[in-house]
Amino acid sequence: MPKKCILCDKEAEYSIKGCSESYCKQCAIEQFHDVDYLQRIQEESKKIVALVDDALEEGISDDEEMSEEE
Ligand SMILES: [Zn+2]
Repeated sequence: MPKKCILCDKEAEYSIKGCSESYCKQCAIEQFHDVDYLQRIQEESKKIVALVDDALEEGISDDEEMSEEE
């Protein structure tokens, strides 16, 4: 049986390491802003997590403002 988000009761995709609390993707990002703290429940969300991690670490606008790097 899939876990449920403790906030909105949707199907959870992340759980806190060492805890039984689980969150859906949206709530996880809203709560923690960084899903690095969380454990993925579904492999499927791997791509999304990678994108979110990347955006957070790079400051999102890296691609759009290449000229600023010079
Ligand atoms: Zn939720």
